[in-house]
Amino acid sequence: MIPLMRPLVGQAEADAVAAVIASGWLTQGPQVLAFENEFAAMTGAAHACAVSNCTTALHLALLAVGVGPGDEVITVSHSFIATANSIHMCGATPVFADIGPDGFNIDPNAIAALITPRTKAVLCVDQIGMPCDLPAICEVARAHGLRVVEDAACASGAEIQANGTWTKLGGTFSDVACFSFHPRKILTTGEGGMITTNDPEIDARCRLLRQHGMSVSDLARHKSNRVVTETYDESGFNYRMTDMQAAVGREQLKRLDSIVAERRTLARRYAEQFSEIGEVAVPAEPGWARSNWQSYCVGLPETANRDGVMQSMLDKGIATRRAIMSSHLEKPWQNARHGGLERSEMVSRTHLILPLFNGMTETEQDIVVDGLKTSLSAQGLN
Ligand SMILES: *Cc1c(COP(=O)(O)O)cnc(C)c1O
Repeated sequence: MIPLMRPLVGQAEADAVAAVIASGWLTQGPQVLAFENEFAAMTGAAHACAVSNCTTALHLALLAVGVGPGDEVITVSHSFIATANSIHMCGATPVFADIGPDGFNIDPNAIAALITPRTKAVLCVDQIGMPCDLPAICEVARAHGLRVVEDAACASGAEIQANGTWTKLGGTFSDVACFSFHPRKILTTGEGGMITTNDPEIDARCRLLRQHGMSVSDLARHKSNRVVTETYDESGFNYRMTDMQAAVGREQLKRLDSIVAERRTLARRYAEQFSEIGEVAVPAEPGWARSNWQSYCVGLPETANRDGVMQSMLDKGIATRRAIMSSHLEKPWQNARHGGLERSEMVSRTHLILPLFNGMTETEQDIVVDGLKTSLSAQGLN
């Protein structure tokens, strides 16, 4: 069986967790703080705040930029449903813009027409690790006084060009970015999330709200040689990351560059192989973006039976997944306001995600390419 994804975890992570357990401090403490500092340094952001997962990260980031009940947030339908749900968690309403013509990310030109007096922010997504057009998105948003929250769940280590130099996502452009460490992403802590920002007020808000609105962190109280009595000036949440997860994340982070480099090699090889198969549309990487290739998503002709192709590949021992979902096709968001979602629907219907994981061999990749080729042939395509 060739899996879709395989997390790259081993002895280093196991040893790191064992050390945390031996230390006696298990949740949000010294390991979380160290992971935050190292993750901030990786992105170039001034601050990083670790939380329990990326959905809770998005919830806090939206709250921190002032999104609340009755507000609207412009985002994509074409994303994992957590993106839209995080807006709902603030009591606000998602409004869906379509994705652009040559990728899986929001069309910056579709934003302005959706803005109303209730619009508070744009929640853009770096879908499957491909940076969205942040300069163009921020330009429209800022021209209308909107904040920009970035769902970078899949995008640890992805890069974008800014003023002629390459920079990792999370430290430039958007007001605040959120990352996921779910095992389906390229850097994992089992469950986990991170909020990066250059704005000290956003960071302070997220830190406060992630632990019940408590005025002093457990770690600060523990380290103090004076009796500290904390206060709770507003209600918050328990969105803490554990120190065991953070210790795993720190080991993962050390390998990020090599993880991404290997994925880029695998993606390049797929693109070369598929260039000979006209029926398979490979993902385009704009000149100003470098994906981390969290997923490799290809398009099939409208005439293909996509699910039939997936079944036939599964029969050959090759795991695939349908492409990115369109959230407005699910019950919670079927009545959401939108500006036309033809391309979101078309991509959700015709695309599929192929196996791409660290440690994948050329032989395994050849089996996937051949499996897709023969499955299309069986349908009279290719
Ligand atoms: C995975 C994912 C999320 C949710 O991340 P969790 O850590 O599982 O909460 C949100 N948005 C996008 C685009 C994702 O891919």
